[in-house]
Parts: sequence; structure tokens; C-alpha cells
Amino acid sequence: MSSATHRPDVLVIGGGIGGLSAALALTRKGLRVRLYEKAAEFGEVGAGLQIAPNCTRILDDYGLLRETVALGVLPEHMVMKDAVDAEELTRLNLKDLQRRYGFPYMVIHRSDLLGIFLRACERAGVELVTDAHCVSYGNTPGGARVTFAGGRTDEAETVIAADGLHSVARTLLVHDEPVNSAYVAYRGAVPFDQVRTNDVHEKDVVVYIGPRCHFVQYPLRGGRMFNQVAVFESPKALAGEEHWGTPDELDRAFDGMCPQIRKGLPLMWRDRWWRMFDRDPIMNWVSGRIALLGDAAHPPLQYMAQGAVMAIEDGWVLAEHVGAQQARRSGQSSGVDWDKALGAYEAVRPEHCRRVVLAARAWGELWHLEGLKRLQRNTLLRSRDTYDYSFTDWVYGPTALTPDQEPELYPTIPLDSVND
Ligand SMILES: Cc1cc2nc3c(=O)[nH]c(=O)nc-3n(C[C@H](O)[C@H](O)[C@H](O)COP(=O)(O)OP(=O)(O)OC[C@H]3O[C@@H](n4cnc5c(N)ncnc54)[C@H](O)[C@@H]3O)c2cc1C
Repeated sequence: MSSATHRPDVLVIGGGIGGLSAALALTRKGLRVRLYEKAAEFGEVGAGLQIAPNCTRILDDYGLLRETVALGVLPEHMVMKDAVDAEELTRLNLKDLQRRYGFPYMVIHRSDLLGIFLRACERAGVELVTDAHCVSYGNTPGGARVTFAGGRTDEAETVIAADGLHSVARTLLVHDEPVNSAYVAYRGAVPFDQVRTNDVHEKDVVVYIGPRCHFVQYPLRGGRMFNQVAVFESPKALAGEEHWGTPDELDRAFDGMCPQIRKGLPLMWRDRWWRMFDRDPIMNWVSGRIALLGDAAHPPLQYMAQGAVMAIEDGWVLAEHVGAQQARRSGQSSGVDWDKALGAYEAVRPEHCRRVVLAARAWGELWHLEGLKRLQRNTLLRSRDTYDYSFTDWVYGPTALTPDQEPELYPTIPLDSVND
């Protein structure tokens, strides 16, 4: 751990995309921020990340969009296909989508995005501390305190807990457990040359949806790399086995799926897999001067590609309210009215994230249908107008700062309305 120079105004626990982006956002408002990460180095999985206009809008506000575009890819379309026969079901034209929302839909290597935030934090003067495993959080008169393994403590006016799915801070607010979806994700990012003859889309995000499985493909790093994600329901998980989602299950999960998927499967990493957990939404994220952010508050299933995006939105919203509730700094005090700023954050973010977490579950159910319901779903998706944005306006539009700015939810169309 490094030694302190100034007393920080804010401690951020967790140096993932959520913690780093929040630290940057708060520093831009003139606060002194110290961030603690438990790992020895900042890092992310070497796979891809989709970032929608509700995130690139914020990156633009931070002055980071140009660098992000330079390192990522601006795909032309998002194409959804049936995983069994590879028939196209629906698509988004991402150039038109950019026109509608004012900012692009992008894909980027996770470590590139993490690196962008890390460098921005360094430039902004965030104090970055690694090898610091926070084991407990507590409120103090006028602030909050964290304790690390080994017994060291630190204090500030406010603590932001961005400590991920297994958040320690979350236990201050609720005694819940991650919800096991029984689905598992395999990832693999490879040089593009390895997929050139696999009938892939070079410039699109493609999602194949199928019975109890789906498969995602998109280019990375200016098209030099190709990212694939294979997701399936684990029979071993359903049977209650402890070791589930193992590579032997991957080998069987896509039997009967289209050749495009089967060609991609041998390129998945087999030494690591991600079991898919989310948590039930909670509406209280703030305990005194301790506030949850990112996956600590709202871990989703990844089917809407909004987990990291929501984390980035959280930091932006929090910082905007801090800016609005800030008087002149005096002595050790930052001048922020934290009760008001944290209250305004908690008034708006939990409801939005609740909607996304629940929509991601529903989206997963829709993707993974089989039999008649799969055919009904396909009919519905095929009938969607490419330029109908009623399913994206509620999430890709400007991030709400107040509850009245939160847009209407997307319309629901019952599957049974289709006679197939
Ligand atoms: C297969 C898959 C695909 C996905 N695709 C997308 C996508 O396309 N778009 C998207 O927006 N989202 C996507 N997501 C979701 C996204 O990855 C997460 O929602 C996001 O990374 C959460 O960021 P976070 O910073 O809140 O948490 P994390 O990334 O989990 O970071 C938490 C950090 O805190 C540290 N930490 C934890 N505990 C402590 C402690 N006690 N003390 C100190 N440090 C601690 C950890 O080491 C870590 O660095 C995907 C997820 C998966 C699994």
C-alpha cells in the first residue's frame, strides 16, 4: 500500500470499471479520491465488452470517447439470428442508432477500457492503492471507515463500495445471496485470421439465440481480433452438482446448432468459465455514508450488455449530484452535502437498474426458448421494423439524473399473440 499524503474526501473500494470510472468522475468534481483494489494489479479479463450510447455519451463527457473509439470498433449492425438454422431474426442499424441517440454503440477489449479509465484516473490525481483487501465497512460520526485484511483502517467523508458481485458492503443493506441462473459463459478472443473462413460477420455484432444456449461474436481492436462468447444452461447445475459448467458440458451444449457456431466453439478458452449469477434488485444502496455502486449494487445477467455500462452511469450520476450539492471547500471538509448527494443518487439509480436486471432475466428467457415458443418468438422478432426503437429508447437514451427523467419501460408483447 502507498502512504497517504492528503486526507481523501472519498474512498472507493474496488478498481474494476465501476470503481475506476466513479473515482474519475468524483475527482473531476474537485474531490480528493483514494481507490483501493484487492488485487496486486489493476486488470480485466482479455475479452470484449459492448458499450451502448448511454455509456459512450458519458465517455464523451469525460473527454475519453476519442481514445475509446481509437482502441475499439464501431460495428455496423447488431444482428440477431436463430442458433439452429442461422436465419436472421432482426437487426439494429448501428449508424442509424448513433443518429438517434447522438453517440455510438461500440465494442472494445475490456482491458483497453480499463486502461483508459486507469490512465485518466492517474492524470486526474486519483490515489490508486493495490493489494488492499477491504474486510469491513462502518459509519463514523461525519464519515465512514474501512478496515483491511491485516487490520489497517482508513476514513473519509464517504465510501463508495464498488466491490463487485460478492460485495462485502452490500451486507450492510441486505442479507441476500447471488442468484444462480444455471447458465455458464465461455469466452475466447482470438486473432481475426483464425475465424476468417468461419462465415463470420467482420463488421457486426452477431447474437445467435437458441434452445437453452446463445452464442455472441464481434470484432475487437480495429478488427484485428475476434471475440466470441458461448453461453448455455448447465445440466450439472440443474442436477445440483458442485462442479458445473465444465468443458465437457460446453462440448455437448451446442449439438444441433448451426455450422457457424460449431466452427467457433473450438476457439473458446477451456481453462476458465464464468457461471452466471445475478442478484434480486434492491432499492436501498446507501447506508449512512457508504454507498454501493456497479455490480455491488445491481449485478445483472449480461444479456443486455449493460452491467459495466450501468456501473459507469452510477459514477456519472453520483458525481453530477455531488457537483450540485457542493459548497466551497473549507479546511478538511470537501463542502459536499453528502446526505443530499447520496439521497439524490439513491432516488434515481436503483429503479433504473432494477428495470435492467429484470429485463436481462426476461431477455435471457426469450433467447433460450425452444419448441413452439421459439417459433413464436422468431415470428415476433422477424416482424420488428429495423428502425423501431421502442425497445431501446428506455435504456440507450440520456441517463436520468432524477426519477422524473426516467423514461417509460419498453412495451411487452405476449408470445401468444402470434399464431405460428
Ligand atoms: C460473460 C460476460 C459478458 C459481459 N458483457 C458485458 C457487456 O458487453 N457490456 C457490459 O456493460 N457489461 C457486460 N458484462 C457485465 C460487466 O462485466 C460487469 O457488470 C462489470 O464489469 C461490473 O463492474 P464492477 O466494477 O462493478 O465490478 P467488478 O468488475 O467485479 O470489479 C470489482 C473490483 O473490486 C475488487 N474487489 C472486490 N472485493 C474487494 C475487496 N473486498 N477489497 C478491495 N477490492 C475488492 C475486485 O478485485 C475488482 O477489481 C458482462 C459480464 C459477463 C460475465
